[in-house]
Amino acid sequence: MITDKNKNWTRKSKVIIIGSGFGGLSAAIRLQATGEYQVTILEKLEQIGGRARVFKKNGFSFDAGPTVITAPFIFEELFTLNNRRIEDYVQFLPVQPYYRIYFDDRTFFDYAHPDENIPQIEQLSGSEDVYGYKRMLEAVEPIFEKGFKELSFQPFDSFWSMIKVAPSLMRLQSYRSNYNFVSKYIKNEKLRIVFSFHPLLIGGNPFSVPSIYSLIQFLEKEYGIWFAKGGTTALVHGLAKLFLELGGEIITNEEITKIEVEKKKVIGVRTKDGKFYASDIVVSNADPAFTYTKLIDAKWRKKNNDKRYRKTKYSMSLVVIYFGTKKQYPDMKHHTIILGPRYKELLTDIFKNKALSEDFSSYLHVPTRTDPDLAPKGHEAFYILVPVPHQDSGIDWEQMAEPFKWRSTR
Ligand SMILES: Cc1cc2nc3c(=O)[nH]c(=O)nc-3n(C[C@H](O)[C@H](O)[C@H](O)COP(=O)(O)OP(=O)(O)OC[C@H]3O[C@@H](n4cnc5c(N)ncnc54)[C@H](O)[C@@H]3O)c2cc1C
Repeated sequence: MITDKNKNWTRKSKVIIIGSGFGGLSAAIRLQATGEYQVTILEKLEQIGGRARVFKKNGFSFDAGPTVITAPFIFEELFTLNNRRIEDYVQFLPVQPYYRIYFDDRTFFDYAHPDENIPQIEQLSGSEDVYGYKRMLEAVEPIFEKGFKELSFQPFDSFWSMIKVAPSLMRLQSYRSNYNFVSKYIKNEKLRIVFSFHPLLIGGNPFSVPSIYSLIQFLEKEYGIWFAKGGTTALVHGLAKLFLELGGEIITNEEITKIEVEKKKVIGVRTKDGKFYASDIVVSNADPAFTYTKLIDAKWRKKNNDKRYRKTKYSMSLVVIYFGTKKQYPDMKHHTIILGPRYKELLTDIFKNKALSEDFSSYLHVPTRTDPDLAPKGHEAFYILVPVPHQDSGIDWEQMAEPFKWRSTR
């Protein structure tokens, strides 16, 4: 609220949110729900959702990016805090198994709840690894308690804020890489991959990110894996509906080129075609490096200067190919990971050498296995996602896109 005691008025603070991805929509709902803010989302694209937008063609519906929901309660909370039920906006369908993982020798592991995993571990590797797996599950619980419930809600914006939590992180074995953490408990190489690949889902190399990422295993064990009926886009539209009901506003096709600042205080945003939206608060859902280096004048950001973002290490990139088939593949699973002949070496090529290898691993998404309505009757919708080095690698995708597409969908 903004109050002017002299003139005797009070008004809601105006908030502009740049971007309508999950981050922008969630922040918008939380702020609008307080009753203290009047929130407007400005989105540069025609569609809302950001990386979770949708492509529709010839009766097929392809979610552009995210498809795996591992923490449904985070979405539920946005509805319950507004006295609503998420079921009235979007339905979550369970996915089983969570992932099928194919190894290069064509054997596979159906990764799911421990009750399903244990007999497969027994068969593949014997009782020693079953024992190790159970011990590992015990070890991931405190990592979840600390890493998810406490640390993920804490900003780490200074060296000292990180130093303060260092002792807890040491106790939780965060000095180990995720892969090393798993290897401490499990001997079989295939199983080590199965239980350590998770950081790849969010752009991290299992051989270098800390073991704190293993908390994803705990999330999956406790809450399962879910898919939104109608695709992830249905979740995006459920959130947008809630936000609009709360009195928020969404404007699409509005690209922000500048966050305007006066006397060290934000005063609003400027659009590509010169329009000005006044606001008391600006929340940027665009990538942080872009927000600081492209949207805010350098004189207002001593800490977040260009040099800082030039030195920042960026995660991997992805090539995603969307396609439909005229027939169905009932044996396929919703989420399938297909590993190539090399694992650690391939990840080193992607993350460290930034080289496009001849071999690759991929993730195949077949949402019609859970929700057949995403393709015409008797058809199947797919996307294949291949991790590749990020854009600083200098790979000329204008040249490489076609041969790469041919190779990865063969
Ligand atoms: C292929 C793929 C698969 C993925 N799979 C999963 C998964 O299964 N599960 C999972 O949890 N995560 C997954 N992720 C990650 C997930 O998509 C992201 O973490 C999440 O969608 C990011 O949301 P966000 O709101 O932070 O950003 P974004 O979705 O990027 O939203 C940013 C928004 O800001 C807008 N914007 C940017 N600049 C401007 C500007 N100047 N003016 C106006 N608007 C602007 C953009 O258009 C966009 O709409 C996946 C990502 C990809 C790419």
